[in-house]
Amino acid sequence: MKSIVILGGGTAGWIAANLMAMHWKDKDLDITLVESPNIGIIGVGEGSTPPLKHFLDVIGVEESDWMSRCDATYKVGITFRGWSTRPGFEEYFHPFLNQHDEALLPAFFHNSHLRRQGVDLDGHPSQFFSAWELAKQRLAPIAPPNFPFEMKYGYHFNSGLLGVFLREWAEKRGVKYRAATVTGVVLKNDGYIDYLQTDTEDTIKADFYVDSTGFRSRLLQEALGVPFENCEDVLFNDSAVVFPTDPDENPEPQTVSTALNHGWGWKIPLTSRFGNGYVYSSKYVDDDEAEREFREHLGLLDSDVDARHLNFKVGRVKEHWHKNCLAVGLSQGFIEPLEATALDMVQETVVRFIEAANKGNLTDEFRGEFNDRISRRFDAVRDYIVCHYRISTRTDTEYWRDCGSNDKISRSLHELLTAWMKGDNITDELERQNLDAYFPNVSWNCLLAGKGIYPSDEQVRPGSELAHKYKLEDIAKFRKGCALNFNSHQEQLAVLRD
Ligand SMILES: Cc1cc2nc3c(=O)[nH]c(=O)nc-3n(C[C@H](O)[C@H](O)[C@H](O)COP(=O)(O)OP(=O)(O)OC[C@H]3O[C@@H](n4cnc5c(N)ncnc54)[C@H](O)[C@@H]3O)c2cc1C
Repeated sequence: MKSIVILGGGTAGWIAANLMAMHWKDKDLDITLVESPNIGIIGVGEGSTPPLKHFLDVIGVEESDWMSRCDATYKVGITFRGWSTRPGFEEYFHPFLNQHDEALLPAFFHNSHLRRQGVDLDGHPSQFFSAWELAKQRLAPIAPPNFPFEMKYGYHFNSGLLGVFLREWAEKRGVKYRAATVTGVVLKNDGYIDYLQTDTEDTIKADFYVDSTGFRSRLLQEALGVPFENCEDVLFNDSAVVFPTDPDENPEPQTVSTALNHGWGWKIPLTSRFGNGYVYSSKYVDDDEAEREFREHLGLLDSDVDARHLNFKVGRVKEHWHKNCLAVGLSQGFIEPLEATALDMVQETVVRFIEAANKGNLTDEFRGEFNDRISRRFDAVRDYIVCHYRISTRTDTEYWRDCGSNDKISRSLHELLTAWMKGDNITDELERQNLDAYFPNVSWNCLLAGKGIYPSDEQVRPGSELAHKYKLEDIAKFRKGCALNFNSHQEQLAVLRD
């Protein structure tokens, strides 16, 4: 492998370009990104998880380099609203776990575990995390130097602007750029890609190709015919409608996900606007009605702001790396954006690919191992997302009734839910299935506890003094004390602009 062509200049293509240029800076490799001037990027995907910060750290980008250029804000977690009808569980917060919050985890796990076994303890997750306090008080997760704990956070950003920034960064590290639309793919006799035909006179040739052409998957699925395995039998959503709304001066450092009649809506705060989207199933509602419902939800019924409609398919390809082609981003698959995991998957795919290629001395010796690893990750994310729907107690529409009674869930998820309902130790079950490698124990506990999957108030017994060993007033005091160390989100964003 001496030359690589990355086809597609969305976030996935530019993340791949930066990581490859960084990790292979000492190898004699020619990396070119080719992008169609006529086909736009998807233009959504504006919420992230902490690994995005890690990626930016790895490629040497400081927050002051990119955040204000990309209208970015901080993200300390996600509030899920309206997913459960159980009293007291109408909403919950899923944090990115800060180091000092680990001190509170034993209390959360203790209360959650005993509550499942029928003891009258409060197991609602939000209160056990100082990140929740930051979200409520609209504080930025940037600790002063005398606060000795590591903070974990992600970002919200304008995806178009982030692409422009990452392009400049990659070009500075030697990645070449070409504007051309690929119109044909010529294969060799052994089925490997030989060269690409374009809408200009030129052809484009490389030893290795990265397909980051979005849902088109122009190389891996279209030219090489790698099958797509959809999971529409467990994830019903296939459409989205998207609107901007005016920004808040001091934005919440969190994404809000609200369950609606036939799916859910996201609200992502940027400095220049809110990004809002309604992800729904076209089998249960048509585009016009979904748009009307979402406008009503956002208080926009009388507004003439333009809506954008998108369609997508959920699932993944059978092989992410096939012959001399690696698919990255939407071209390799998509599990709906409920946990904003897509860019994390892009990073993981590229980093593991680089690792596998290096291990095989830039050959495809470890391709099979790599493909299994990435597919397992996709399937683990799928099950976590499916769980949101399967355990929702909403029954107000046919959509929610079908989600809640879906018996096609995977065996792995079935076993996990059984362990939870039986009051078993969930940590053991996650370890047994090696699921904590993808979503950690705390995430599963937040999801199941946050939706109130507990015996009801009438079914619980008081419990001993030992059972009540953690005092919620002390935990609230700890949370609020920690929050005193942080600046308002607005102030912290202003520091980055100056
Ligand atoms: C509704 C929705 C919400 C989402 N929300 C989130 C979220 O909150 N968080 C998150 O992490 N992810 C989210 N995602 C996923 C996220 O949008 C994508 O993972 C991310 O934007 C990367 O997209 P991409 O680069 O793979 O594809 P695209 O952005 O579609 O880019 C494709 C590129 O390929 C080029 N191209 C295509 N065909 C050709 C051709 N023939 N010749 C040359 N160039 C070509 C195009 O010009 C373009 O540059 C969401 C996705 C959807 C659908």
